[in-house]
Amino acid sequence: MSSVTVQDPIPEKLRAWDRTLVWHAFTQMAEYEPLIIERADGCVLVDIDGNEYIDGVSSLWCNVHGHRHPKLDAALHEQLDHVAHVTSLGSSNPTTIKLARRLVDITPAGLEHVFFSDDGATAVEVAVKMALQYWRQRDDPRPQKTCYVALGEAYHGDTIGSVSVGGVERFHAMFRPLLFETLRVPAPDTYRTPEGVSADNLTAYHLDKLESVLREHHQRIAAMVIEPLVQAAAGMIVHPPGYLRGVRELTREHDVLLIADEVAVGFGRTGRMFACEHEGVSPDLLCLAKGLTGGYLPLAATLATDKIYNAFLGDYAESRTFFHGHTYGGNPLGAAVALACLDVFEEEKTLAALTPKIERLAEHLDRIGDLPHVGHVRQCGLIAGIELVRDPATKEPYPWQEKRGIRVCEHAKSEGVWLRPLGNVVVVMPPLAITLEQLDRIAAAVERGISALTH
Ligand SMILES: *Cc1c(COP(=O)(O)O)cnc(C)c1O
Repeated sequence: MSSVTVQDPIPEKLRAWDRTLVWHAFTQMAEYEPLIIERADGCVLVDIDGNEYIDGVSSLWCNVHGHRHPKLDAALHEQLDHVAHVTSLGSSNPTTIKLARRLVDITPAGLEHVFFSDDGATAVEVAVKMALQYWRQRDDPRPQKTCYVALGEAYHGDTIGSVSVGGVERFHAMFRPLLFETLRVPAPDTYRTPEGVSADNLTAYHLDKLESVLREHHQRIAAMVIEPLVQAAAGMIVHPPGYLRGVRELTREHDVLLIADEVAVGFGRTGRMFACEHEGVSPDLLCLAKGLTGGYLPLAATLATDKIYNAFLGDYAESRTFFHGHTYGGNPLGAAVALACLDVFEEEKTLAALTPKIERLAEHLDRIGDLPHVGHVRQCGLIAGIELVRDPATKEPYPWQEKRGIRVCEHAKSEGVWLRPLGNVVVVMPPLAITLEQLDRIAAAVERGISALTH
């Protein structure tokens, strides 16, 4: 094959190679229809044929200030003039150090140390391993603490450790033989509630469930892992008020570490910088990724308290070191763009500017919620899930094989709005930089799609 063809292939060639050479994530390749994005501007994606799409799910929940933001682009160029990569194994660089300082300053109180990695899954792996090693190395060691508590339908990434704490049956059942032990408590779902449980006592019901597991097993539980406020991949399940605070109180009471996975909900999505802030919660370990670089580059961070960090200190020969690392962890290009992302939050008052957008989204959801086959709409900040059901009276789901969510999103695409559903849940989770007019267009496309494709 001549190099000329590789450098400048025609769109048809690109589509053919994309279909056969690139193995896409979470995609049935036998049915894959290429969508090849050639460039983007703000909240609009442009494909190789020049078609434009509003980025309705933030390029999978990570874009924050829009694509090709001048500040973020400039920060990246500037870092390139210094150095593109420095290893975090025994060395450092000014940009990554400054990012650690900023993260410690803006995250909930008590998180004082930052371990950098490169993706959400690795941020969770790091937290899970740190928790276990902490219990073994602290004064008054508790080596029997080797298992974890996590919620039903939890999603924490796709590496084996993060799958072990994950609980999405359709993704994770296959890998069961490879996984370590995790105790599961039901997700506090406000739509599909247990019999006899109402909105008023839902939080208490689920905290009771958790308490009985902690009471019985706390001696062997290293940590509880939770997606605070919103279980994203589960279908944007929004937890009832008070649940997260209750989880924090119970884990503290029973000597179990709390790992907050804010990979999806962090960096403004919920209307606050971090979801934990809504309930005044400080976890023992905090996982950040996705929005950390504004959606530009793979970079992740696991923040830890002094108490945990100190258990890893000692003479070299004591082997208390955290023997874990990722080649590109703390990469300076990622750190530079992450710092610029935080600057933009301040300069553009991104969080304050969200209020009217969150309200507009709520108005649209209100209307969409009245469509006959919409069983439930849920929202937290600029995150929304619209659940399609065959029968709203019984909450009977559409069989997943009918691909209702996918078809609604295909309709939206034909109207210039790019979305990706979670089964029967249509997800709207645009960049924080989305305009009201773009939000209106997303909602209109979703509304027409649902009307046309559910019956
Ligand atoms: C996406 C996600 C992850 C995994 O992040 P990757 O960067 O894809 O590895 C972990 N936890 C939550 C809550 C997520 O939404």
